[in-house]
Amino acid sequence: APPDQAPGTSTARSEALFQRAQRVIPGGVNSPVRAFKSVGGTPRFIASANGATLTDADGQTYLDYIGSWGPMILGHNHPAVREAIVEAAQSGTSFGAPSEREVLLAELVTRLTGTEKVRFVSSGTEATMSALRLARGFTGHSSPERKYTVKFRGNYHGHADALLVEAGSGLMTNAAALGQAAPSSAGVPPEYAALTLVADYNDPAGLDRLIQERGHEIAAVIFEPVVGNAGVLIPSAEFLAALHRVKAAGALLIADEVMTGFRLSLRGASGLLNLEPDLTCWGKIIGGGLPVGAYGGRAEIMDFVSPIGPVYQAGTLSGNPLAMAAGLATLRELERDPDIYTRLERYTAALGEGLTSLAAEAGLPLTVNQIGSMLTAFFLEGEVHDYGQAARADTAAFGRWFQALLGAGVYWAPSQFESIFVSGAHREVDLDFTLTAAKQAFSAAK
Ligand code: PLP
Repeated sequence: APPDQAPGTSTARSEALFQRAQRVIPGGVNSPVRAFKSVGGTPRFIASANGATLTDADGQTYLDYIGSWGPMILGHNHPAVREAIVEAAQSGTSFGAPSEREVLLAELVTRLTGTEKVRFVSSGTEATMSALRLARGFTGHSSPERKYTVKFRGNYHGHADALLVEAGSGLMTNAAALGQAAPSSAGVPPEYAALTLVADYNDPAGLDRLIQERGHEIAAVIFEPVVGNAGVLIPSAEFLAALHRVKAAGALLIADEVMTGFRLSLRGASGLLNLEPDLTCWGKIIGGGLPVGAYGGRAEIMDFVSPIGPVYQAGTLSGNPLAMAAGLATLRELERDPDIYTRLERYTAALGEGLTSLAAEAGLPLTVNQIGSMLTAFFLEGEVHDYGQAARADTAAFGRWFQALLGAGVYWAPSQFESIFVSGAHREVDLDFTLTAAKQAFSAAK
């Protein structure tokens, strides 16, 4: 149900917690976007979450469109997931030795996604970092000069050094050589960034050129099959075809499905878009709200990982029983109710259509990119297919809109360049509530 009390703008307790937090945690948060830096105002400290709602430290309830940035596809505090975690906790919380739930989740993930073997880690960052190392190890086996990897401008793959290159923020610099670019973060030596070549998303000719000139040096091309981290960008069929051509040059194709895996279909974006990557990375939904990441692919490649292969990768809490239990319960629930994807698509498409017509009524330029339960409303005119187009958005207008929505009890993603996530707990009444709040927020944003 939608928030039943007027949400108002009381932030006394969140503000007090934020002040304390800033004394002992950099910026008061453990992940930057939570600080509301690009939209301003006090970040709400969350006390509890249930279904499609979040309740903050001041007792105000919000209709949630973040879903913990993706994992909560079933909604918060789903009984099946909660019970699975509680049950697992009765038997101990970490063993440092193999246990049955790891086997069950690996069997389920490989069956649902059509991969042969999978390795569990504890975050999406670890999954992509490990997949790149594996790609270098596997391809380097036959051609040791393959030390470069390719990523796309504005795609985000977590915070490993080699992947913090043109990673979706405003740090665009001039590429010195074809495909080469500078780090997006202090502390990443240019020597590390130099091993990451950067291409434009949705630019098949650019990718073909890069592969033609340097394909023999490239171990892997990593990509978001649907981008969420520059706002939502949807790949063209031509771009997807060009991605598959990199295989012919001997490079591995790595689909980063950390956000899209189990979100766009049971088989992720790969299922929806008919992709055939060599390796796939997962995170978010695969852990049902607990820390899990994974990477997987053909046995021939995965068997290069230690202890049987030469590529080292490990983790104290990898395959943690509570995390496996949450992932298992979530994926089983999705498999039991595959129509959830149709319902999510219907809700999110209606949300997009509603926002488009409300913005038009208000005389505000707005472009909605939506696929399945992912959506970004860009405050700009014209189509958005790549990072450069997304970057033209009026972030000030978005910030005013965001604040007005929050004041009305709708918690949108606090940045223009993020996807929102609809969950199975969002109902028709929530859609009406959202569009009523959005209408008023568009007038406030003008
Ligand atoms: N890859 C993608 C596509 C992501 O969206 C994210 C996180 O948002 C990551 C990787 C990194 O995952 P994590 O934050 O779990 O390290």
